Amino acid sequence: MGTGRQTRQRSAILGKIREAEGPLSIAQIHERAGGEIPRLGIATVYRAVKALREGGEIVAVELPGEEPHYETADRGHHHHFRCRVCEQTYDLGVCPVGIPRGTMLPGGYTVEDHSLTLYGRCADCVA
Ligand SMILES: [Zn+2]
Ligand SMILES: [Zn+2]
Repeated sequence: MGTGRQTRQRSAILGKIREAEGPLSIAQIHERAGGEIPRLGIATVYRAVKALREGGEIVAVELPGEEPHYETADRGHHHHFRCRVCEQTYDLGVCPVGIPRGTMLPGGYTVEDHSLTLYGRCADCVA
């Protein structure tokens, strides 16, 4: 439980994470939510993110070599595309992995899941 002000801050922060084009870093959340919440401090963003994670509303996304990014927990199976130019991470609408769950690989390995991050240039940066 928090004060009314805390609740409003958290719901504004959750809204920014939800409407984003992909997972956001703490700095990105701070920048985007700052337009809506006057005098928003970075410590407040950290606290809100911690509370939202503990509440199961958002999850951390680990990208190799990057600080953690955050996305809502209800996004379902999806992959990320990391633009090497603008360093923005996007959700992909397609799953490019053609290895269904249950596939038996040589050696007796049964596939249950996969994770994948693609790297390249986004539409804005390819030009
Ligand atoms: Zn880009
Ligand atoms: Zn997939």
